[in-house]
Amino acid sequence: MPHSFSRFSAGCALAALACAPGASKKNPGAVAPAAAAAGAVSVGINTVEQPDPGIAAMVARLDLESYKATIKGLTQFGDRRQGTDRNRAAVDWIEAQLKSYGCTPTARITYDFHQQPRTPRPPMDSAARARAAMWGVGGARVRGTRMPTGVNTDSARQPDAKLRALDTPQSVDGERQEVYCTKVGTTHPNEMYIVGGHMDGIGWGEAANDDGSGTALVMELARVFSSPDVRTDRSIRFILWNNEESGLDGSRAYVAQRAALQGIEDPKGSGKYPEPKWLGMIQHDMMMFDHGMPKADGTMGKEQRREADVNIEFQSRSKFAADAERLAWAFQSANEKYATDYPAQVGRHMTNTDSAPFEDLVPAISLRENERGAQIGAGWDPQWHQPTDLYTTYTDDDFGLGLNAAQTTLSAVAELVGAKGKQ
Ligand SMILES: [Zn+2]
Repeated sequence: MPHSFSRFSAGCALAALACAPGASKKNPGAVAPAAAAAGAVSVGINTVEQPDPGIAAMVARLDLESYKATIKGLTQFGDRRQGTDRNRAAVDWIEAQLKSYGCTPTARITYDFHQQPRTPRPPMDSAARARAAMWGVGGARVRGTRMPTGVNTDSARQPDAKLRALDTPQSVDGERQEVYCTKVGTTHPNEMYIVGGHMDGIGWGEAANDDGSGTALVMELARVFSSPDVRTDRSIRFILWNNEESGLDGSRAYVAQRAALQGIEDPKGSGKYPEPKWLGMIQHDMMMFDHGMPKADGTMGKEQRREADVNIEFQSRSKFAADAERLAWAFQSANEKYATDYPAQVGRHMTNTDSAPFEDLVPAISLRENERGAQIGAGWDPQWHQPTDLYTTYTDDDFGLGLNAAQTTLSAVAELVGAKGKQ
């Protein structure tokens, strides 16, 4: 059986709960507890919560083809490198898409960016090398086969002449912009969750996975939450960061400009809150490729590994670690209830992504294809920052992992903001 059939059933109608995790094609004989009875079902010491039909209907408005089409749309701008015309064109295109979904008004953050000259790192002594072999970024323990990682800077490694030409202009210092739109809550418009991905990329490819996959996820959620029949008690901001690849500069600019504006009504008495109080920050970065650990000979599995999952990370060293961990488990629980094909795991080493500038101000988590420190950092994604990060590199199993992360965040956020839609 083709691998893709084991995971995906075209036209599977989640609204009718036919796609509840226990009733997927992968495991057709299983009966989801959801189907057994209304209300909570007690299983030993655990309580299995029931999916909410309204939220399930919202999740069913996500689909693989729409998610793929949005990623494909982003790849028309090549790697979308910050500080280039193709990056600015991508910001315009994203904004037009958000408007077409009814996620209005849109707005932009404007900031200046100047590349700092890099100071070369001092060479590592043997003790430092041993530490680096054992410990990844974010405090993660690295195990198993490890492959080198890095950013491709060699244009000759992009064999497609058209794409090579598109990716050729390099960054010019100066003004930058990033775009967002907001779903305004009906009863608590002054409080919001932030849902983000970064739209810039590097490496002489199309940045399809890093981070077209997270950008498209955020855009798809903006589309579903902007449906005219969907109401939410609290607000949600959908934001597409720029300058992630230069060092989280877009998200840092947002925090610097807007942290102090939280919860302030402006103009006074208007009921409008340009910057609702931040309740949580949820980042999406590299959502699709989970083919397992590199083999001993340095090659990778050709297919999505059978145990592929969505990795939800928080940072245990952050000021809001306890609340961030609770938020992560709320997402894991939403995944169990609403995601069709892939499970989710929680880890405590969130790092190197746009949720980091928020982690000491608000509960912050990130969703990824793998753990950033122990797995991606050890070379589990050979397309990372490479010319091979192309739309055509990925199979429907890969795109489907991103879709399941979208189902996870959509349903978790829907629960958190008190979303109600037509069933
Ligand atoms: Zn990224």
